[in-house]
Amino acid sequence: MWQAEVRVDLGAIRDNLTLLRDRTAAEVMAVVKGDGYGHGMLPVARAALGAGATWLGACTLGEALELRAAGITAPVLAWLLTPGLPLHEGVAADVDLSAASLAGLAEVVAAARRVGRPARVHLKIDTGLGRSGALAAEWPVLIEAAAKAQADEMIEVVGVWSHFACADEPGHPSIDAQLENFNAALAVAGRYGIAPRVRHIANSAAILTRPDAHFDLVRAGIAMYGLSPIPSHDFGLRPAMTARARVMLTKRVPAGQGVSYGHTYVTPAETTLAVVPFGYADGVPRAASSSAPVALGGQVYRIAGRVCMDQIVLDCGDAPVAAGDLAVLFGPGDDGEPTADDWARVCDTINYEIVTRFGSARVPRHYDGERGTVG
Ligand SMILES: *Cc1c(COP(=O)(O)O)cnc(C)c1O
Repeated sequence: MWQAEVRVDLGAIRDNLTLLRDRTAAEVMAVVKGDGYGHGMLPVARAALGAGATWLGACTLGEALELRAAGITAPVLAWLLTPGLPLHEGVAADVDLSAASLAGLAEVVAAARRVGRPARVHLKIDTGLGRSGALAAEWPVLIEAAAKAQADEMIEVVGVWSHFACADEPGHPSIDAQLENFNAALAVAGRYGIAPRVRHIANSAAILTRPDAHFDLVRAGIAMYGLSPIPSHDFGLRPAMTARARVMLTKRVPAGQGVSYGHTYVTPAETTLAVVPFGYADGVPRAASSSAPVALGGQVYRIAGRVCMDQIVLDCGDAPVAAGDLAVLFGPGDDGEPTADDWARVCDTINYEIVTRFGSARVPRHYDGERGTVG
């Protein structure tokens, strides 16, 4: 028995992955960072591998090790590595590690020496995002050091990679510029005898709009979860997450009743209030106060007043709502319920943040479409 739940449709995740695979000849890395964008890292990883993904993207070393501890043997890339992490645990667990600087590469080499086995490395070039990665000016030095470490059998350069800044704005001039820089970086690597098995730069938006950016491997995140990386474009994806709760209590109140903290909402007429057990501890942004839509009994209401830590209130007028009824915050939209995109719009954020927030540990997650274990 649950009062609030997040339901994840693994069949939708498999279908979305199939749609993405149909659009590329490259291998697909399923990006499962952030607890699978709030959908649950392990079930998503298994569903993705079952649907033809051949790589997993984990972001942190901890996430990568958790995938290995669960018995998943597919290649896993970890890329957000700060100094002093136990990278030897990654090497020992066969986790691919990103190196974005000479210092980062040195840490990977030290880890390989400690384990007594070459580390699998992806060298990261900053082609224009201005975040992680080596700048073009330091790239030849990084490549030269990597070539030497590879000759010494301390590392195997498995990948060369980068990340787009504006792939979600098709036609943005930075996309072509980054591709040009990426190709130049690959040429430099080639001059030092580095021929990585996988060259990769494409995220969901680039998978769907830039076939010329697919190279050998694409990294699928938000699109695999069924949400569009470009909200104005419908790519035929199916949202996998539904957030819903049972109404805790309803009551009639008179006109003029202030609702929730600060009384920022006041009932305009006698009405029925419904209390829904979902608050900011469960992932509801406080910015959803008096704005985000919630479906209840075939109607869609705006949240009345402030979002609290544990609950929200709906003003249902004279609708026959009762304790125990199901309130749907968002879902695929099939039955007229709001979507994560609707929530993102009113909360002034992106669909990525909405679903990731709802991965809160307090809310039980239930899965539809589970199959046998893969990976
Ligand atoms: C999160 C992430 C992705 C996935 O991006 P989407 O837009 O969700 O497809 C790909 N690559 C890197 C480096 C990331 O951090």
